[in-house]
Amino acid sequence: MLLENTSAVFKKMSHAAMRAGRRPEDVRLVAVTKTVGIDEIRKAADIGLRVFGENKIQEATEKITNLKFEISNSNIEWHLIGHLQRNKAKYAVRLFELIHSLDSEELAADLNKEAEKAGKVQRVLIQVKLSTEETKSGIPEQDLPLLVKKVTRLENLKLEGLMTIPPFFADPEPARPFFKRLRELRDELEKKGFVLPELSMGMSNDYEVAIQEGATLVRIGTAIFGERRDT
Ligand SMILES: *Cc1c(COP(=O)(O)O)cnc(C)c1O
Repeated sequence: MLLENTSAVFKKMSHAAMRAGRRPEDVRLVAVTKTVGIDEIRKAADIGLRVFGENKIQEATEKITNLKFEISNSNIEWHLIGHLQRNKAKYAVRLFELIHSLDSEELAADLNKEAEKAGKVQRVLIQVKLSTEETKSGIPEQDLPLLVKKVTRLENLKLEGLMTIPPFFADPEPARPFFKRLRELRDELEKKGFVLPELSMGMSNDYEVAIQEGATLVRIGTAIFGERRDT
């Protein structure tokens, strides 16, 4: 199942990219492994998946420390895709190559400090909240330019782009305007001189639409590992 699912996802990703006149290699898959067990992640690494996304520090710590020994030479990357609390900044810096969920100046300062202590330049994306849903984290659109400016001044953070999670729709089309908006925000910032190549957007039910709108990182769980027993 894992191999079939993954091949199907890669195929759809390439098709979506080509239909949009983009190169398939410009879109990378983040395999979302929240609630997925170690054995299954090992299998995923065996079939060639290299970038994994987790949304909770504690769960990620267990998995990453367990798997480190086995697959330390195969350049696996772990990404944090869930909300990060300030008091866990230290752990996030130790665990993750890329943090997709930076959403405040305070968290940026904490991450910068911890990255400095760890002798690391932490790669980050800013999560933008484009819907009015109360539950979604992320910075409101109007506060984005100032946060971008502040984050790019921090020496131990490297801001690489933006991330968003649209509201859930059963059908992918209604999500399109949210992806389009994220790309426009990025383009506006690039006109001001910021370099923000990455757009993390698109999940199992809407990644093809996200790719058509410019996604460079798609975060896919269910379509690869099957339905989650939600915790
Ligand atoms: C769980 C999760 C995903 C993956 O969702 P699927 O619908 O299973 O593909 C992507 N992004 C974030 C932030 C998530 O929490």
